[in-house]
Amino acid sequence: MTTSDLTINPTPAARPLRRPRPVTIYDLPFEQLESRLADLGAPAYRAQQIFDWTYGRQVTGYDGMLNVPADLRASLAESLPFSTMKLVREMVTDDGETYKLLYQTFDNQIVETVLMLYPDRATVCVSCQVGCAVGCAFCATGLGGLTRNLTAGEMVQQTIDAARRAGELGRNLTNLVMMGMGEPLQNYAPTMTFIGIINDARGMSFGARRITISTSGIVPRIEALASEPYQVNLAVSLHAPNDELRSQLVPINDRWPVPVLMKACDEYIAKTGRRISFEYALMKGINSSDEIARELGELLRGRLCHVNVIPFNPVDVLEFERPDHESINRFAGILEEAGIPTTVRYSRGVEIAAACGQLRNRHEQEQQAS
Ligand code: SAH
Ligand code: SF4
Repeated sequence: MTTSDLTINPTPAARPLRRPRPVTIYDLPFEQLESRLADLGAPAYRAQQIFDWTYGRQVTGYDGMLNVPADLRASLAESLPFSTMKLVREMVTDDGETYKLLYQTFDNQIVETVLMLYPDRATVCVSCQVGCAVGCAFCATGLGGLTRNLTAGEMVQQTIDAARRAGELGRNLTNLVMMGMGEPLQNYAPTMTFIGIINDARGMSFGARRITISTSGIVPRIEALASEPYQVNLAVSLHAPNDELRSQLVPINDRWPVPVLMKACDEYIAKTGRRISFEYALMKGINSSDEIARELGELLRGRLCHVNVIPFNPVDVLEFERPDHESINRFAGILEEAGIPTTVRYSRGVEIAAACGQLRNRHEQEQQAS
């Protein structure tokens, strides 16, 4: 396997600024774009033209919008920046099948996005926050707490850039997982706006059923999600079948313990008719014993669900370890025997960044060192 690291003009990291976040074209749902255009004295049909260029042709600026008058393009460029995140680094690994994109935001934050190519699909892993307030014991993103929420536009830009990159590689972006940095259900409204924008049939028309939101278990928001119009998939990061262990790994378990979380999941399944995926980061000597596998099987028995066992991705400063192959397969086998559909998912891009959030941490350390 080869890893190439293409550094694209990185700017030194600075302290976060508390500036108002610029609104970009990617922040605006269709109707809001229409009213912006009305403010500029442009006819409503321009909104569709601009959506076509932005989400259909995926141009990178107003200059490429050939059927939009030059004076309107100039006014838009002045009042509504096209995008604010700058790609500062791109890394390719897994024999050219995983692309990790590192962005710098307008306030000098670092954001990670990953594009993963599989034989039958191409998936983007989107970040929704810089850092994360949940602080799971095994996660690189949560190490420094939450710096800030990302805007809907910053999430849209990650998606469009990944779609464009997939296109350049002769592939279609087919799936989206909110499994990058951050907890989407703690940045709820922008995440829903983001989904609304990429799902809009007048633009990208990215199917909600191809989107997965992953959560550490923010119960009131799981309830809210069940009432949303979008048929997105839900993944719940369980990691342990009981409160004693889960509270050590996922601190918000003290607030919404396993029985409360399971009740919310049951209600979600009943209301939506959709299956839930339970994510389970498998860590040697922590949550990987036969006994725990059986307990997990008991907990999930009879539920419309699926388990994704994710062998732990090493994180530089954390001491957790990945179990060996035999133990991983054994754990999954016990769940299968208990009647729980189970998949072992090895994370992509381990050699370039290990766990999500870690590339950002390394990049910031490098910037500080230089
Ligand atoms: N905050 C959300 C989504 C982002 S994390 C959540 O926690 O669900 C995406 C998934 O990666 C979660 O299941 C998370 O628990 C898992 N994860 C985080 N760090 C990991 C690591 N070092 N190894 C394996 N999985 C990890
Ligand atoms: Fe946050 Fe998810 Fe990482 Fe936990 S696993 S710290 S919720 S990003």
